[in-house]
Amino acid sequence: MNVDVLVIGGGMAGATAAGKAADSGREVAVVRRGYGATALSSGAIDIALDPVRISDDSWSDSSPVKKDLKELIRRNPHHPYRTIAFGGADPAERIVGIIREALDKLVKGFKDRNLLFTGSLDSNQVLTNNLGTYKFAAFSQGTISPGDLLKMRQARLLFIGIQGLSCFNPRYLADSLLGFSRRQDADNVQVTDFILLDFPGYLRSSNILPAELAAGLDNQEMAKKLTESVKRAVGDQDYTHLVLPPVCGLERSFQTLEGIQDGIGRPCFETLSAPVSIPGLRLQRAIDAYLTGKGIKVLDGEVVSFKESGGRIDEVILNDEKSISAKSFVLATGKYIGGGVVKDHEFKEPVFDLPLFFNGERIREIFIKELVGNSPAASHPAFSVGLRTDSLLRPLQEEGEVIYENLFAAGAVLGGYNYLTEKCGLGVALATGFVAGKNAGEL
Ligand SMILES: Cc1cc2nc3c(=O)[nH]c(=O)nc-3n(C[C@H](O)[C@H](O)[C@H](O)COP(=O)(O)OP(=O)(O)OC[C@H]3O[C@@H](n4cnc5c(N)ncnc54)[C@H](O)[C@@H]3O)c2cc1C
Repeated sequence: MNVDVLVIGGGMAGATAAGKAADSGREVAVVRRGYGATALSSGAIDIALDPVRISDDSWSDSSPVKKDLKELIRRNPHHPYRTIAFGGADPAERIVGIIREALDKLVKGFKDRNLLFTGSLDSNQVLTNNLGTYKFAAFSQGTISPGDLLKMRQARLLFIGIQGLSCFNPRYLADSLLGFSRRQDADNVQVTDFILLDFPGYLRSSNILPAELAAGLDNQEMAKKLTESVKRAVGDQDYTHLVLPPVCGLERSFQTLEGIQDGIGRPCFETLSAPVSIPGLRLQRAIDAYLTGKGIKVLDGEVVSFKESGGRIDEVILNDEKSISAKSFVLATGKYIGGGVVKDHEFKEPVFDLPLFFNGERIREIFIKELVGNSPAASHPAFSVGLRTDSLLRPLQEEGEVIYENLFAAGAVLGGYNYLTEKCGLGVALATGFVAGKNAGEL
């Protein structure tokens, strides 16, 4: 097979790169071995949050995004945002422009899939999740964004649990959110309460998996039954919003939520989700549909080796021994979850054996304890390990030379940023995917 641009990886970075290259009239294919971190993401698109400025407790500290972006770029010389904004007068403004354009294209393509993202590049939303905490994010799926706690005043929230669905414990979530809310100056949330629904549309009342419930709710009859159950259980309780588990459907979540909302006459929203994340799966499926909708070939397979000549990649070879040649390649293989970076004694980029960096230094063998914190919530510098590139996003050698003229990299395979503490995971995937796709398409 021969194409103009081959993108390796089908997450947010790969899809954005492929879409942008296809827009410049190139024949584009995506090869991916499966789903990566994008399919696990919580339902939000993070752009930037300054971990130094933000205090743990205050929701009103959450904005503005652009100011925080500026700070990430200023403080971190290896941040991919800074790399691609290189040389511009106002780097933060340039990144905002790139993300706006990238998101606009992608989200327009998502419309048919009932997956609208709502938010802004001016300020973060504050969104609760199904772990009992909350998170700042610039954008969230349309079924989640009505739950922006910053926009609420004296809200009375009713959490709806479903008997047998263990990923959403409404009693704990209601209690936990109220605790956080009481630490705020503004009276965002006044009261929380919960009900546990015995949902008759489902036969079992134990061990219900989020994915099977979400798939079930894509059936309109079942969605109607859920609305009826909610109406009955809620009765005339006094509340301003209903908070639902993030399982309202894979394809028709918006309609399901709207049905419940119309049925009870109050706003409803889903929380963000920890893995396994139905909102993450929704995003990945919308990405898949976006790619095929643009006429981009999506191939299932793992790239295991490649051929090069004269400082250029000629072709890659898949695990089934088929080969794909292209004029240019985008490496968007993610990090530890996607498979773009592996740790097997040494840190390794397994496709092209590219050098990996941490804090600008080439990294080879290192005891993992030096890069991870003691608690799950610690900052884990291991997340910052990855490729170093020039401003066109071509991977670099330790000495700074471009390795292959026609190879570009995007997304989590890049080093120099920590998506967890800087809240910029899908933002970096979007911005670098867009730039890598543009450059690959122009070659
Ligand atoms: C649990 C969790 C929750 C998160 N929540 C959020 C959130 O709410 N908001 C946010 O902004 N960010 C979030 N992030 C971060 C965000 O999901 C990632 O930064 C982002 O998805 C990375 O996208 P990517 O396209 O670079 O990589 P991935 O989505 O990991 O995609 C990598 C792709 O490369 C493919 N691949 C890898 N190796 C090969 C190979 N050899 N051959 C072929 N294909 C290959 C994989 O199969 C996959 O398709 C979260 C991350 C995690 C882990």
